[in-house]
Amino acid sequence: MKYKTHRAGALSILALFILVPYILGFFSFNINNLSIIGLCPFLVYFFSTLPDKIESAHRTWAHSIISLTLILFTLYSAKPIIEVLLLKTLQNISSNHIKLIQSTFSMSILIGWGSHLLFDSLTDSGIPVFYPINKKRYNLYKIGTYNNDRNEQILFWIFTYFLVITVIFVTLKIAKISINFLLIKLLYISFYI
Ligand SMILES: [Zn+2]
Repeated sequence: MKYKTHRAGALSILALFILVPYILGFFSFNINNLSIIGLCPFLVYFFSTLPDKIESAHRTWAHSIISLTLILFTLYSAKPIIEVLLLKTLQNISSNHIKLIQSTFSMSILIGWGSHLLFDSLTDSGIPVFYPINKKRYNLYKIGTYNNDRNEQILFWIFTYFLVITVIFVTLKIAKISINFLLIKLLYISFYI
């Protein structure tokens, strides 16, 4: 599967979990969390193609659910150690901020790397889900892996349209908030005139 499909797909899943709840009003950004959550798209973009870049032979250990689980488990177990290290190296940072950084990082790996495995499992070559225990490859669908597959192109455009529409809705929502804020300010000022 092409890098652009992996990237667009991973960013769509991220948008589904962060931007859609924001548009629907289940979730709000504030100046404290935005600076950290804002890193998610960059991290997800990076992790969505990483499994193809770190293997010497394509679709081996980095394409296994076992490896991904081990990576996430290691990060989870090292959480207290990383927290102490960060608290010592970075001054003026709260423990809550560090927790948010850690969950942002783990979530980005899960979405970026996890979606890579999911999308590769939709191709005819499949992925070695239980590598190195069992090297058999499994697939959920049969999108052509290397040629310009029509199904892959359709998938890419669905993701791209979804992302564009989501970003438009987020922009409209932010614009509405700023217009309301501006109106309140004007009303407030008008009392003094
Ligand atoms: Zn791959």
